[in-house]
Amino acid sequence: MHWGGRTNGDLVSGDAPYESIAPAGAGGRGVLGGGGHGGDPAQGDGGSSDHVGLIRALWLQEKESRLASEAKVLSLEEGAAALREERDKLKATLNGEGFKGRSLQELEHLEKDLRKALEGVCGERDRIVQQQLAKEEQRLCVVCQENERSVLLLPCRHLCVCRGCSERQELTLCPLCRDHITESLVVYS
Ligand SMILES: [Zn+2]
Ligand SMILES: [Zn+2]
Repeated sequence: MHWGGRTNGDLVSGDAPYESIAPAGAGGRGVLGGGGHGGDPAQGDGGSSDHVGLIRALWLQEKESRLASEAKVLSLEEGAAALREERDKLKATLNGEGFKGRSLQELEHLEKDLRKALEGVCGERDRIVQQQLAKEEQRLCVVCQENERSVLLLPCRHLCVCRGCSERQELTLCPLCRDHITESLVVYS
């Protein structure tokens, strides 16, 4: 039983993989399905053809997956072509073509879709305008809302008023945090 002792039936570590698959009387511990072939006169060839079979199976598997991805690409291309066609139709509709000859039901559906699209466009526009207003507000003096903020109030360090407003006698507290202003610094951007 020196076979089992030397290679332990392991194809990776053995230096003679096919012989170690299922030597006569070794109990058929081979990884490639040598089990049950102990004593078979064609055992060596059997191991080789098992190996070839495995490679062939792997090759077939790879070919199958390649064919599957090719089919996927084809169906994606078909889908893209259909989408392009749909887009061209929609474009024609939005350009005012393609209304004629439509049924009342189709026109009603179209009106609904267009209203929905218009709502989306207006909503996005409002969002952007709000964003710009907020940005503008951050830039302007919190007192007069006209001039740019340019004076840093101390000790709170809030940059929130313009030079003109900072010089007003009644401005003794920071308009943001109500802290007493001890000093103010003009900031240049
Ligand atoms: Zn101001
Ligand atoms: Zn403050």
